[in-house]
Amino acid sequence: MMTDSFCQGTPQMTFVSGSDKILNKKILDIIKCPKCAYFLRPPMFLCTEGHNYCEECFRRNSSRCPECGAVKTENRSVQLEQIHNALFFRCFFSRFGCRMICRGIIIRLHESQCSFRMYGNL
Ligand SMILES: [Zn+2]
Ligand SMILES: [Zn+2]
Ligand SMILES: [Zn+2]
Repeated sequence: MMTDSFCQGTPQMTFVSGSDKILNKKILDIIKCPKCAYFLRPPMFLCTEGHNYCEECFRRNSSRCPECGAVKTENRSVQLEQIHNALFFRCFFSRFGCRMICRGIIIRLHESQCSFRMYGNL
């Protein structure tokens, strides 16, 4: 597993600067789950046409892709998962006051232990 100590310091967006920040935001816009509009997070699953879903939407809906009606597969979107690991995300519980911003691979770990967790479910 990749280690990254970025989140030990003050959680803020300033270390993502200039073009990196713009790129980060552009990619974030792309990797939203088409069903729930929250950011995709690993494991990410695909329909036969290549649409991605978060795990929750993938499990909850019928066997068909809500976007195009194609059959869902158990295939994972491995490269996209790696991109997720490298991008910066706000903590899911930021709406409750958490100010943590970390790489995807760290933020998932953080969210499982976030002190704002008690206010809402992931
Ligand atoms: Zn979803
Ligand atoms: Zn589809
Ligand atoms: Zn948090």
